[in-house]
Amino acid sequence: MANGGRRSLVGIDLGTTQSVIAHLDATGIVSTIPNREGDMLTASAIYLDGNQALVGNAAKQAASHTPDKVATFIKRDMGRALYSRAVDGRQFRPETLSAIILRKLKQDAERRIPPIGKAVITVPAYFDDARRKATEDAARIAGFDSIEIINEPTAAAIAYCLEGQLSRDGSVASPDFPDGKLTALVYDLGGGTFDVTAIRLESKRIDTLATDGAVKLGGKDWDDRIVQYVVRQFAERYGVKIPEDRQQAIANHAESTKKLLTDLPSAPVECFYQDHALRLTLTRAEFEEMTRDLIVQTDVITNSVVSKSVFQGQQLGWKDFNRVLLVGGSTRMPMVKKTLQQISGKEPDDSPDPDQVVARGAAIFAAIKAARGIESDLTVEDSLQQELQDIDVIDVNAHSLGIAVKHPKTKEPMTAVLIPKNRQLPFAMSKVFHLTEQGATAVRVQVLEGEAPDPFSNILLGEVRVTGLPPNLPKRAPVQVRLAYNPNGRVSVMALDMTGGRFAHAEIERKSGLTDADIEREAEFVRSLKIQ
Ligand code: ADP
Ligand code: MG
Repeated sequence: MANGGRRSLVGIDLGTTQSVIAHLDATGIVSTIPNREGDMLTASAIYLDGNQALVGNAAKQAASHTPDKVATFIKRDMGRALYSRAVDGRQFRPETLSAIILRKLKQDAERRIPPIGKAVITVPAYFDDARRKATEDAARIAGFDSIEIINEPTAAAIAYCLEGQLSRDGSVASPDFPDGKLTALVYDLGGGTFDVTAIRLESKRIDTLATDGAVKLGGKDWDDRIVQYVVRQFAERYGVKIPEDRQQAIANHAESTKKLLTDLPSAPVECFYQDHALRLTLTRAEFEEMTRDLIVQTDVITNSVVSKSVFQGQQLGWKDFNRVLLVGGSTRMPMVKKTLQQISGKEPDDSPDPDQVVARGAAIFAAIKAARGIESDLTVEDSLQQELQDIDVIDVNAHSLGIAVKHPKTKEPMTAVLIPKNRQLPFAMSKVFHLTEQGATAVRVQVLEGEAPDPFSNILLGEVRVTGLPPNLPKRAPVQVRLAYNPNGRVSVMALDMTGGRFAHAEIERKSGLTDADIEREAEFVRSLKIQ
């Protein structure tokens, strides 16, 4: 009985357009687990009809004829109160819809592996606290017991550096970086989002150096350019304007055209509407021309991440990077490799599978976490456990963390940044506040994410509430508030009553997000669905 009551360690890439689940076995072998339909990639699309939920490719296809019953691009709404529109006549929280996708991945995977014990779910590095919390809440709604989150580029770097090494001799050195040192730029262009991160690997430690991205830049924008082209051609030739709600059908077709253009110099474009049939040929050169500004946007962000990369006090430049790693399905487009080659002067590395590398790295991270934990049913083989325990993964914060204060002279509201962005995590800063009234037992401080001097231009994360201070504190009694980014990018708070030298109770009352009771109610709803 080799694996006894062992529970599984999995990594999940909950993508904007596609999701992937991978598993790490007791000997350190990583495998991507196909869904019930036999696909490694599950489209992040849900078709809802009463208590029936269909997740995956079929749901994505259904969007062409029954768009009102299909939810896609849910990840773009994470952190908001509601999904952008009604689905099957109902309003949903993005967490709940994400939970339905997670549930599908879980139930399909558990047909092949032991019940999931620990899951690591990936998030874009630029996800703020509200979006990270929404992802964790989605996992709780889906019924995962033990979850962690990790940044997608970091997960990709883990897979790149460690996959295949673990079960061998425990060294992270590979023929490509013999001394075990590597400075890499992870370029992730997915379906809906773009993310660039600079990473340094040295002696079993993975450090994130800098990160940036765009929340709304991805393969969909390339598809949309083809859709716009078709709509324009239709209008020019037939004088007919194709209505918005019919454009979804064109979008699915446009995506296939785009993919064909990855491998072929030209591809057909078709559109049928009313009595007209439009048949055109789009060349790769034309496609590259109509999307040039999108690529330029990725270049600007990529160069800015390189210029923000500092290692051991040294400012890095392109010459210091020995690898450019391609992640995300959209990096298959030849124009991406071409441009990256031009700006970096290096041949980008497309050796890891760009669709699976994130989930696979997350599975390894689940094992790193489990190796340090105490749950005995999450063990791996002893030698592997030793290896995993020594690996350190250090991330940075993508957003500055601050508080709203009044300008000392003008009394205008302003942001006081406590933790600037791109600091290695965990990172904490304290600030002393003074009670405004005698006998006050609470302090209220607004916590902001972002860099703008004007507090209203930043994201209001919530309000720190310090409670349970001893009664009868004098006016202006000092209370120290300590804000921290945890290793996983979540924000936490502590408070110290400096008069009595005791910790007070402190929490962040978040402006958005679910309470425990909400999560239980949503979980009950998701359990009531028949998910396929
Ligand atoms: P996400 O992380 O946002 O879910 P993925 O990394 O899975 O996204 O990438 C999905 C995107 O990759 C989609 O926009 C898809 O059209 C695009 N894509 C996949 N294969 C190809 C290809 N061969 N050529 C061009 N684009 C592709
Ligand atoms: Mg992705």
